[in-house]
Amino acid sequence: MRCKCCSREARNEYCELHKKAYASVVQKFEIWKHAADVSWEQYLNEIVKNPFTGAWAKEVAERLLKDKE
Ligand SMILES: [Zn+2]
Repeated sequence: MRCKCCSREARNEYCELHKKAYASVVQKFEIWKHAADVSWEQYLNEIVKNPFTGAWAKEVAERLLKDKE
């Protein structure tokens, strides 16, 4: 099985690096959700647009947005 974000070998949907990035994306959303009234999709868009987002998290967010289409 291949990672959904890159071509690395993965045990599940994501490789180790993207799995970690995904976990932190989800974790941060929990905080955002309480601080601001944002939807999951709005939040993902913010991640993609934010120049300070790490490359891994950005790739995960882009992937999740594409999956929604
Ligand atoms: Zn990956």
